[in-house]
Amino acid sequence: MKYEAVIGLEIHCELKTKTKIFCGCATGFGADENTHVCPVCLGLPGVLPTVNKRVVEFAIKAGLATNCEINQYSKFDRKNYYYPDLPKNWQTSQYDLPICKNGWVDIDVDGEKRRIRLTRIHMEEDAGKLVHSGTTIKDSATSDVDYNRTGVPLLEIVSEPDLRSAEEARAYMEKIKAIMEYIDVSNCRMEEGNLRADVNVSLRPVGTQELGTRTEMKNINSFKSLVDAIDYEIERQTEVLEDGGHVVQETRTWDPARGITLSMRSKENAHDYRYMPEPDLPPIITSDETIEKYRRELPELPDARRARLTADYGLSDYDAGIITSSRAMAEYFDAVVATGADAKLAANWMMGDLAKKLNEESLDIAKSPVDAQRLGEMIQLIMKNTISGKIAKKVFAEMWTNPDAPEKIVKDKGLVQITDASAIEGVVDEVIANNPKAVEEYKGGKKKAIGALVGQVMKATKGKANPQMVNQLLAKKLQ
Ligand code: ADP
Ligand code: ZN
Ligand code: MG
Repeated sequence: MKYEAVIGLEIHCELKTKTKIFCGCATGFGADENTHVCPVCLGLPGVLPTVNKRVVEFAIKAGLATNCEINQYSKFDRKNYYYPDLPKNWQTSQYDLPICKNGWVDIDVDGEKRRIRLTRIHMEEDAGKLVHSGTTIKDSATSDVDYNRTGVPLLEIVSEPDLRSAEEARAYMEKIKAIMEYIDVSNCRMEEGNLRADVNVSLRPVGTQELGTRTEMKNINSFKSLVDAIDYEIERQTEVLEDGGHVVQETRTWDPARGITLSMRSKENAHDYRYMPEPDLPPIITSDETIEKYRRELPELPDARRARLTADYGLSDYDAGIITSSRAMAEYFDAVVATGADAKLAANWMMGDLAKKLNEESLDIAKSPVDAQRLGEMIQLIMKNTISGKIAKKVFAEMWTNPDAPEKIVKDKGLVQITDASAIEGVVDEVIANNPKAVEEYKGGKKKAIGALVGQVMKATKGKANPQMVNQLLAKKLQ
């Protein structure tokens, strides 16, 4: 039997508010343990929470940016469970009236567009962090608990089970990340846990509609883990089903070091949490005016920006898609073009030499040693014929470690293109004299032989001769 994978993601996105969701404690990452705490987020008796208005604003903006309906009457609920990182013994979350519902985003995989539906987006508080003396809780003599993260605001963005492969899940999570970055509600630093996903995977026979039994992998916090964990789980479940077995509904953990998922516990159902309305917080009532105000404040979103780059600059849909896939890239591109650089050249350099260098050094574009201004200046040198595209590669490589302006680098290194016809002519004559065989072949009708002669001229001028002029001069002299 052939099976089809069915995948749904619950993405947790940490919001970049200054203070926590229900108290005034700071949210900053990396502070000393238990310094960002107060009676409210420590769950001491007799204290009352208040809702951080910014969290509601960010949640509504996230909903509007993902085509959700906003619940104008929304409320908080208590999700009850016991764990040492949860001092109140319940998580204040949302259950039946989340702030946003019924949205969608479009993704592209291999040039094919698919619409992925969002079930809901709700607000909740993060839990604290357990710090084990060993590597896992099982092999630790002691575990400390740090409550700094307790009460940090989160959005939980839940998709319908519309994803069909690891690559689609990746494209979807990248899209959500891009949107959250564009609307500036989260830092989305995956390595700091700002964005993490619970990944639900099941299989069903191709052509059937009913959902199969799923497993859930918690807290996946990199794109690589997301893809690897899903691929592994699809393979594991396929084997179980092909051996005539049944997939067990359970929570599994992804072990990136071993590249496998491991059973953690049988999956709890909603009724296990004894959800109940949060009595200490009033409902959140949002007016039409507020929603419209937030809608007006939204920036241009990735899909719109992509369409604009194709329309305004004639970039291909593919190139525009890559450039708008992160806010930092899109802003870098705009800054390069703003210097007066040609947009297509800007796109080519960003996706070529720049992307390669950033990748090699695992650098974010915002930290690129070649900033948008300098790349723009370099591209203009190509446009003015001061350097050829080939020499530009040398200049770019030099710019990576040399902070000088590209124009200065070109002068200092003597890389200015030779466009003086008489200077090139001398070399052309020499090359013709020294390569009788290629000349004879060319004259005998083998037009391709000119390539070898062009190569010789470029070599003699250390790549600095203007290639078009070399071609023209050679063709003329060989007539
Ligand atoms: P929870 O996991 O908290 O119990 P839900 O039951 O609402 O919450 O499901 C959460 C996620 O699991 C959603 O993204 C949903 O699309 C996905 N999901 C639900 N059933 C399946 C299934 N059979 N196969 C794959 N994904 C599923
Ligand atoms: Zn607090
Ligand atoms: Mg879940």
